[in-house]
Amino acid sequence: MPSSNSSIAKPAAFLDRDGTLIEDSGYVGEPGRVRVLAGVPEALRLLGEAGFDRIVVTNQSGVARGMFEEPDVERVHRELQRVLAQDDGAVDAFYYCAHLDDDCDCRKPLPGMVQRAVAERGLDLERSVVFGDRAGDMMLARAAGIPGILVNPYGEYAGPEPLYRARTLLDGVRFFLERVHV
Ligand SMILES: [Mg+2]
Ligand SMILES: [Zn+2]
Repeated sequence: MPSSNSSIAKPAAFLDRDGTLIEDSGYVGEPGRVRVLAGVPEALRLLGEAGFDRIVVTNQSGVARGMFEEPDVERVHRELQRVLAQDDGAVDAFYYCAHLDDDCDCRKPLPGMVQRAVAERGLDLERSVVFGDRAGDMMLARAAGIPGILVNPYGEYAGPEPLYRARTLLDGVRFFLERVHV
């Protein structure tokens, strides 16, 4: 563990990428396909102002499937960061799982990416939260022992009961900051 004092450790907002921050058009491996969803920059700004580390945790099995390579994932993340910055939003760190099956402790719903971020960045896990649009994200929250906020108002959902079912990331962030975070 990096040295960290729990009294000053930041909580984290663990954010799914596809379908939560950007349009989920399936295996996004090119920067030109990054479409930031409405309200996302403001949601990230609010989280930052509330003292949260904003950490993307995303499964990118397109790498294991041979559809694109890790530098492509990183290019997509740089583009996302560039677009967000135009609107005063930002992500503090990106973690992705490039794998598909076995030999991996990081593919959501496994908590490997969350555990790595907590260790590397000295985060306060107990005050942290997960935002995502799929059951795997809510299972990740459960595995990490923190609340999960589902950003998926209309789609079918069969997974662990989220703390809140939000219309958008911004709606979910406002709910969390106003009603849960103290
Ligand atoms: Mg998603
Ligand atoms: Zn992995």
